[in-house]
Amino acid sequence: MTAPLLEVRGLNKIYRSGGGFLRAPREAQVVKDVGFTVGRGEVFGLVGESGSGKTTIGRMLLRLTEADSGEILFDGQDVRALGPAALRGFRRRAQMIFQDPFASLDPRVRVGDAIAAPIRLHGLRPAGSVKDRVVELLEMVGLSAAHADRHPHAFSGGQRQRVAIARALAVEPELIVCDEPVSALDLSVQAQVVNLLADLSARLGVAYVFISHDMAVVRHLASHVGVLYAGRLVETGPAAAVLGAPRHPYTRMLLAASPRPHAAGRRERAEATGEPPSPYGREPGCRFASRCPHAVAACRAAEPPLDAFADGARFAACIRAAELGPETAPAPEGAPSPAFQTRMALLRAARAEGRAASPDAPA
Ligand code: ADP
Ligand code: MG
Repeated sequence: MTAPLLEVRGLNKIYRSGGGFLRAPREAQVVKDVGFTVGRGEVFGLVGESGSGKTTIGRMLLRLTEADSGEILFDGQDVRALGPAALRGFRRRAQMIFQDPFASLDPRVRVGDAIAAPIRLHGLRPAGSVKDRVVELLEMVGLSAAHADRHPHAFSGGQRQRVAIARALAVEPELIVCDEPVSALDLSVQAQVVNLLADLSARLGVAYVFISHDMAVVRHLASHVGVLYAGRLVETGPAAAVLGAPRHPYTRMLLAASPRPHAAGRRERAEATGEPPSPYGREPGCRFASRCPHAVAACRAAEPPLDAFADGARFAACIRAAELGPETAPAPEGAPSPAFQTRMALLRAARAEGRAASPDAPA
């Protein structure tokens, strides 16, 4: 039996701040006991509000931030135990794309050179054919040879993100951690880049850990999702099941707050209410209890385990998940909300026209 591409177990991260000679530092547990599996070529969507620990998890997966404890197994090998040489090999197989395409490219380096650098570093092509490979990569992301000689400032946000994708693909990775790769882009450009990422994953068989706070984007891309709340996964499972019939009250709140197909109509788009708890000195019990409309006394007694239910493929950390049941999930009533319809229509239109493979603005 071959190992899954990525297996994460019991991941924890505590940040310490302040403190001094006589004062203990304050501790914030920003990632708590996170585990999930990503199969080869699969897209795992990691969703949660800002500050829930998504970026910290993404960075820990690639050893850009060290985890405090837990296991990260990539193709069966223990990523946390890799020495410098093995880490370089791992970095060829697992890449990251960041939210801000302006920060992730050096303004002084022509994009052709930026894409060629990792090819040369890892010796992936003979010197004479690096340029051809760069052109091939530019075309793969909907740009062309003419773009290679330009500097990043000549590119739009969407085009820069395409360059970042080409650079990530240059090493022929098996996994890309995409950290909110479209959040900084205009809505219409978001659709094109999301479709480009979907096409590339399907075409090249590359897997993504796709980090986003946008349920519509995750629904479009991911086969499995994990819903993160205050550093902990509170619900996981197949995307269609989790987003179609959420069991955890927080997943429901997120979906109700985001434009989605089953909302709207008579039902107004709800706001997510309340604030996540402070990561400094948490109360005992369920971390969502203070915002949960279904909380009872038992919820404040102990942290609920992430339990399997239904066919064993879904998990929710809620002692009332079974009792609340799918029948009390937001009913598929009314028409999709206008905002969600717009988003999905853009995604579909971009796909139909094959615009995913064309640049979003002339350079
Ligand atoms: P997200 O990506 O979901 O917005 P982050 O992983 O960036 O969440 O942050 C999770 C929590 O960890 C936040 O409360 C944030 O303030 C805190 N945090 C992130 N990086 C650091 C750091 N280097 N030092 C201290 N706290 C941090
Ligand atoms: Mg983040």
